Amino acid sequence: MQILFRNTVLPISFASHRRSIIIALITVSCVCYFMTVSPQGGYLSSKILSTERSIYKDSTGVLDVEQIDETLLDLAPSAESKPSHSFGNIIPHDPSTPHRANATLLMLARNSDLDGVISSVEQLEAKFNRKFNYPWVFLNDEPFSYEFKRRVKVLTNGDVSFGLIPHETWVQPPWIDEERAQSGRNMLTQDGVIYGDSVSYRNMCRFNSGFFFRHELLTPYKWYWRVEPDVRFYCDLEYDPFVFMEDHNKIYGFTISMPEWESTITSLWSVVKEFILDHPEYVSPNNSMGFISDDAGDSYNMCHFWSNFEIADMDFWRGEAYTKFFNYLENTGGFYYERWGDAPVHSIAAALFTRKDQLHFFKDIGYKHAEFAHCPQGRQWREGHCSCNPNDSFDFAENSCLRHFMRLDDDWMFG
Ligand code: GDP
Ligand code: MN
Repeated sequence: MQILFRNTVLPISFASHRRSIIIALITVSCVCYFMTVSPQGGYLSSKILSTERSIYKDSTGVLDVEQIDETLLDLAPSAESKPSHSFGNIIPHDPSTPHRANATLLMLARNSDLDGVISSVEQLEAKFNRKFNYPWVFLNDEPFSYEFKRRVKVLTNGDVSFGLIPHETWVQPPWIDEERAQSGRNMLTQDGVIYGDSVSYRNMCRFNSGFFFRHELLTPYKWYWRVEPDVRFYCDLEYDPFVFMEDHNKIYGFTISMPEWESTITSLWSVVKEFILDHPEYVSPNNSMGFISDDAGDSYNMCHFWSNFEIADMDFWRGEAYTKFFNYLENTGGFYYERWGDAPVHSIAAALFTRKDQLHFFKDIGYKHAEFAHCPQGRQWREGHCSCNPNDSFDFAENSCLRHFMRLDDDWMFG
């Protein structure tokens, strides 16, 4: 730096400022170096900046002092973001650096969910992410409170971002006939169907069906693990499930499957059948129709993967088949006239538009949502140090859909 500087011809009047100019140049060069020279460090730095920018843009509109401090601090090189030395174009393989996936942990939540959010994050961090440090993305249809962000950020060493959901991907679209939607809600309420009367629940289901993977905080990522407030993770996870999915060409992973309330999706299957007739090219020759239908596709058996847990490939949701499928469903208004859940929508698409060997049952992940749990068995229960009761697993319940999945029966499933 000094040699370069000495070669520069300066007017004599600048001489007295030379020392401070040198210091300023060194500082600027160092910051630029750490942001650009290392591919990993550069990516991290610019992502953190864009994350903080979206906190600023999306939330209260005020970048609080703590955020500013952290933005600046994050520019300093960490152990992870040291520039690597490459020789020509060949980056030497470092066996101590495990292969990582382009993945994030994802949670949709309200500010009022804070206690349940903390509980879920605390467990997933302890059982898995403390070793892997994947980032977290939290989304909300309202700005996250300062308190929410403060309490959540402290739980992980990973990067955390908080995003606001764009209004038009959340609220009931203006072209929906509100009178018809209201009478649909009344009908489900009379039938005693859970969330029958709720518009916000419908917003959430539609957002999770067609929009979350297009949110600006998620577009950089391929893989996500969906987490909800107040869930339980029972077992240690010693391997990286994202890398597992990638290495085995998987697209969609689940732990629990069960039937949907029929009255929430009265017309869904007929719309799906129309779509298939219009677009047979999207249906995989080696699909999992046997999971979702007991009569080769004539009717839907209501089986779906319980989507409060998902480890999946967002490029599948972003792809042509699912994009057209979602738009087709969306145009019928069924998310509001009925109460279509993202679970049957995701599950039907995953079953029809992927090969059956691209679906994965994470039988080694002990998990509970509401009153239903999946508990690993035998060796996986012991080696995972699982805290659940292996006799209390929904897999064996009469209305579990696991047997429908198992009957797809192929060597890959039991390997
Ligand atoms: P259930 O699992 O079907 O009973 O539905 P939940 O009430 O657990 O909602 C599913 C997910 O969406 C959870 O992560 C909730 O925190 C989230 N969620 C549900 N409704 C809203 C809402 O109105 N706003 C926001 N921001 N999140 C919501
Ligand atoms: Mn839930």
